[in-house]
Amino acid sequence: NASPLGHSVIPIVNKLQDIFAQLGSQSTIELPQVAVVGSQSSGKSSVLEALVGRDFLPRGSDICTRRPLVLQLLQIKRKPDGTDEEYGEFLHLPGKRFYDFGDIRREIQAETEREAGGNKGVTDKQIRLKIFSPNVLDITLVDLPGITKVPVGDQPSDIEARIRTMIMSYIKLPSCLILAVTPANADLANSDALQIAGNADPDGYRTIGVITKLDIMDRGTDARNFLLGKVVPLRLGYVGVVNRSQEDIMLNRSIKDALVAEEKFFRSRPVYSDLADGCGVPQLAKKLNQILVQHIKTVLPGLKSRISAALVSVAKEHASYGEITESKAGQGALLLNILSKYSEAFSSMIEGKNEEMSTS
Ligand code: GDP
Ligand code: MG
Repeated sequence: NASPLGHSVIPIVNKLQDIFAQLGSQSTIELPQVAVVGSQSSGKSSVLEALVGRDFLPRGSDICTRRPLVLQLLQIKRKPDGTDEEYGEFLHLPGKRFYDFGDIRREIQAETEREAGGNKGVTDKQIRLKIFSPNVLDITLVDLPGITKVPVGDQPSDIEARIRTMIMSYIKLPSCLILAVTPANADLANSDALQIAGNADPDGYRTIGVITKLDIMDRGTDARNFLLGKVVPLRLGYVGVVNRSQEDIMLNRSIKDALVAEEKFFRSRPVYSDLADGCGVPQLAKKLNQILVQHIKTVLPGLKSRISAALVSVAKEHASYGEITESKAGQGALLLNILSKYSEAFSSMIEGKNEEMSTS
């Protein structure tokens, strides 16, 4: 069971990496980072976790994320006997493999306290965690502390400014995709998430709006106008989601059950029935995947010219040393040909003809 994020992109990226490996070069496609921003308890960590498809992030009604968590997903080879194992490794504990994702969460909490203390302190010192799995795309996700206005516990009086600066240092990078998370039971026009995302990405080329907590809106209200972009328009649009509630967390409800409940929620609400492509975690993953594919398509010409350049140098080598390198040149031309075929496949995929490429 692949994580929802990357589902349709993994086969393409793998194929490309194979091609480059045959040419003797390492991984070449830098995928954009994805960061979540928003006010405290808006559901940022919940959204990231749902996208990864595993339970491992501290979540809760209080301030939980108090250090930036840089989460690198790394694909490992599938074992031939089917006994695949996913595990995590922290930069601060090199060599220690965490196979239990509950232990990963506990270590994030413990490491947060080591650096930021036990009393709501926030620091910009990162926690770096790698998750190794056969089911993921090589991509980096960043979970960030939420924007908070009133200092509590050990927080300094300028806590809001500090957190904003910290968030900006990640999302100002032009290669960072921003998930701007706003709860549906707050006023979208006053959204901290949209405000800070708008500062970092004024043209809205890399901001996706995520509306959480659709399940706990006031009776008689709905998020239709939010999702349709009628309140705050956003170039890449909005996706509404229903994550697990605090009670679900206390009852240890699984991600899988939560996804089923989310689907049922949207199916039973006629107001959302014509907005199907803007509803649910799977749709959010799909939107992100489409952006990643688009990104790959944009960088492909550069990759191709690098291969061509490599071919020219092989040809020169060939001219000076004679026959020995001929097979290498032939192989390069063949690979270039394969790559061109793939870029055609990308094009049709982007047009939606071949959206769900087989993962086999
Ligand atoms: P963060 O501070 O933005 O990372 O937010 P968390 O992911 O830690 O969630 C904060 C609280 O809101 C937790 O108690 C979650 O269970 C709850 N929560 C998040 N999303 C939803 C949602 O869609 N519906 C409901 N009912 N609760 C949610
Ligand atoms: Mg959080």
